[in-house]
Amino acid sequence: MGPRSSASVLAAIRNAGAEEVNLAARWGDVFRVPDGWVAAVSDHGAGVLHATESVEMFQALAVKKGAVVRDNAKVVDIRKGPEGGVVVKTSTGEEFSGAKCVVTVGAWTSKLVKSVAGVDLPIQPLHTLVLYWRIKPGHERELTAEAGFPTFSSYGDPHYVYSTPALERPGLIKINYHGGPPCDPDSRDLISGGGDVVERVAQWIDEFMPGFVETAGGPVDSLPCMYSMTPDEDFVIDFLGGEFGQNVVIGAGFSGHGFKMGPAVGSVLAEMAMYGEARTAAEAGVELDHFRINRFDSNPTENANDL
Ligand SMILES: Cc1cc2nc3c(=O)[nH]c(=O)nc-3n(C[C@H](O)[C@H](O)[C@H](O)COP(=O)(O)OP(=O)(O)OC[C@H]3O[C@@H](n4cnc5c(N)ncnc54)[C@H](O)[C@@H]3O)c2cc1C
Repeated sequence: MGPRSSASVLAAIRNAGAEEVNLAARWGDVFRVPDGWVAAVSDHGAGVLHATESVEMFQALAVKKGAVVRDNAKVVDIRKGPEGGVVVKTSTGEEFSGAKCVVTVGAWTSKLVKSVAGVDLPIQPLHTLVLYWRIKPGHERELTAEAGFPTFSSYGDPHYVYSTPALERPGLIKINYHGGPPCDPDSRDLISGGGDVVERVAQWIDEFMPGFVETAGGPVDSLPCMYSMTPDEDFVIDFLGGEFGQNVVIGAGFSGHGFKMGPAVGSVLAEMAMYGEARTAAEAGVELDHFRINRFDSNPTENANDL
C-alpha cells in the first residue's frame, strides 16, 4: 500500500502483476489509510518462511550431500594460492585451500573485501530492529495468517513499514521499519543503535492500525539485526576480479530483501564458481548484469532510477 501519486508504488504494483483491492472490503476496519492511497495484493498464495528452520534445513541438506559446515570459523584472509586457486585463513590460524571461494558474509562484506582485495564496495551495514507489538485484546485472531491477515509493506514517506501476520508469538505482531542507522558490524550499540526506528513504527501504527495494535509502552520485544544496504538496494552478485579473477565469487548487499531469494542466489553463486557462469539463470533469461560490482563506478545510485 502507498500513495497513488508515487511512481515507485505504481511500478511495484505493475511489475508484480498485483491486483488492486479495497482494504475495507477485504480486511474490515483493520487499516486506516489516507485518502489518495492505493492498496494491492501481489500474491494470494504467499507464505512466511521460518528463517532459523530454513537455514537449518539447508545446512542439513548440504551436509547430506557431502558439505562440511564449520560454525564459528571467522575468515580473516583470502589470498591467491601458490599454484592458483584460493587460500582462506581463519582467525584461529587454520588454512583451507581450494580452486574457488564464494564469499557471503552479509554486513561484514565491505570490511572483508577491503582488507583482502583493497576494493571499496558501497555496502553499508544498517542497524535495524525486529519489533513485536501487542495486539489489542479481542483482535488476536484477526491478525493471524490463518484468519487471512497479509504480509504487507506500507510505502509512505518517511515511514517505510512492513509486517508479517501474527505467527510465532501468539498475541503479538511483527511490524518493522525497513532500514535503520548506519553501523559498524563489529562495534554496534545493541541497546540504542536503532535510532528512532521504534518511534517511526509506533507513529505509523497509531496512524494506520490504531484500533488493533497497542503502542503505549512501546514494543513488547525488540531484537537488533543488520541490513547490508547497497545504494540502489539491489544485490551484488559478481566475481571479485583483480588478482582473484573468477576464483572468488561475491554474493552480498541483499538490502533487507535477500532471504526469500536464498535458494536461487545460492545456485547462481555455485554455478558461477563451478562453471564461470550462471548457466541456469542464463537459460531462464535472467539478466545478472544488473548485479555487477562495478555498476556504482559511474553512478553511485545505479539501478535506483526514478521509476
Ligand atoms: C530485521 C530483518 C528483516 C528481514 N526481513 C526479510 C524479509 O522479510 N524477506 C527477505 O527476503 N529478507 C529479509 N531480510 C534480509 C535477509 O535476512 C538478508 O537479505 C539475508 O539474510 C542476507 O543473507 P547473507 O547470507 O548475505 O547474510 P547473513 O544472513 O547476514 O549471513 C552472513 C553470515 O556470514 C557470517 N560472517 C560474517 N563475517 C564472516 C567472516 N569473516 N568469516 C566467516 N563468516 C562470516 C555471519 O556471521 C553470518 O552468519 C531481513 C533482514 C533483517 C535484518
